Amino acid sequence: MNPMYGFDRILRQLEKVKALINLEDNIYSQLLEAQKVLEVSIPVKMDNGFIKIFKGFRAQYNNARGPYKGGIRFHAEVTYDEVKTLSAWMTFKTAVVDIPLGGGKGGVIVDPKTLSARELEALSRGYIRAIHKFIGPNIDVPAPDVNTDPKIMGWMLDEYEKVAGHHAPGVITGKPLSIGGSEIRSFSTAQGGAYVLDEAAKKIGLKRGATVAIQGFGNAGSHMALILEKMGYKITTVSDSKGLVVNCSGLNINELAVYKVKTGSVKDFPSGEKIEGSKCLEQDADILIPAALENSINKDNAPAIKAKLIVELANGPVTPEADEILKAKGILVVPDILANAGGVAVSYIEQVQNAYNFYWTKDKVLRKLEGIMCRSFAEIWDIKEKYKTDMRTAAYILSVERVAQAMRDRGWG
Ligand code: GLU
Repeated sequence: MNPMYGFDRILRQLEKVKALINLEDNIYSQLLEAQKVLEVSIPVKMDNGFIKIFKGFRAQYNNARGPYKGGIRFHAEVTYDEVKTLSAWMTFKTAVVDIPLGGGKGGVIVDPKTLSARELEALSRGYIRAIHKFIGPNIDVPAPDVNTDPKIMGWMLDEYEKVAGHHAPGVITGKPLSIGGSEIRSFSTAQGGAYVLDEAAKKIGLKRGATVAIQGFGNAGSHMALILEKMGYKITTVSDSKGLVVNCSGLNINELAVYKVKTGSVKDFPSGEKIEGSKCLEQDADILIPAALENSINKDNAPAIKAKLIVELANGPVTPEADEILKAKGILVVPDILANAGGVAVSYIEQVQNAYNFYWTKDKVLRKLEGIMCRSFAEIWDIKEKYKTDMRTAAYILSVERVAQAMRDRGWG
């Protein structure tokens, strides 16, 4: 990967914010590195009887505000640099929504589609055995991310508890409901994104009924489409790694979701229109939601984007060069560390419930999430106005200052 698109992005962002908030050198220098990055080998006996070694990472970026927190991704392109970058984003994400957690991230280099169910379980358990000494409800708390889900979290929790010899539901969030998971965690990233999208749309005079293009139809993207459709937005474009579907009068998202489960892609969905070209980003929609992987909006495709509002449901979907292009075009970008923070916000609620051993209703969790997202949006908007800057810079001003204050209060300065 081009280093400019990896950890360098964090360094550039911090450099920019340092100048704006007069961050002292003693704090700044500590924010430029992860506190710890583990690299582990995970031996898995494959179905053919041979042992295969997988490589995994767990990055613990900063724990000044609370235990490290962040998901685990299973992907063929996971790297040390990527996991470290994502752990830094988690640090600022938890701070932006003001939950008492730090930032971490995990990853395993694997294409999970190539594994059998038994191999996937063995890998998930093996990863936890490799890192179990370094995680815990008060140390570091993993969760789902790209290609990992509640089922995998269930295996991971079970493995941790077996090694620990006692129950510890707060060690992992995004678990199945039956073993301490929270209502709405499965769609909380999308739900949180929908709350801030609605706030941002109001600010620029877009009404429900506005058209939406979504890039990525995995957990976050598909739930976002369903939620926005219910709110009255019109989803006209959806893409995934295999194809694109467009319908100017609005796609039927329930049908599309069923179609995707059946065929593995949104490609060739029967009620889509036959259109020229194959690019999601260039479609004529008021709102664009990148919900796939990092760097999908770059200097090559940013000039063609027609949307008035971009809501970053993925982590790091806009490269720094593309960010400048979008700014010059007057497009409002709601940054990832706010837009997709609904996932970790509900993870926090899940952990609180685990600690109480008492579980709230779906409505109560939804109201709490709405409160967290709308308050954070308003705080960032005020900073944006005060500093006459963009939302991303405003979000970093708020979050870096919060992390820095916790570091000062611990005497780390
Ligand atoms: N993987 C999600 C994220 O990137 C959720 C992390 C969590 O709940 O800890 O924000």
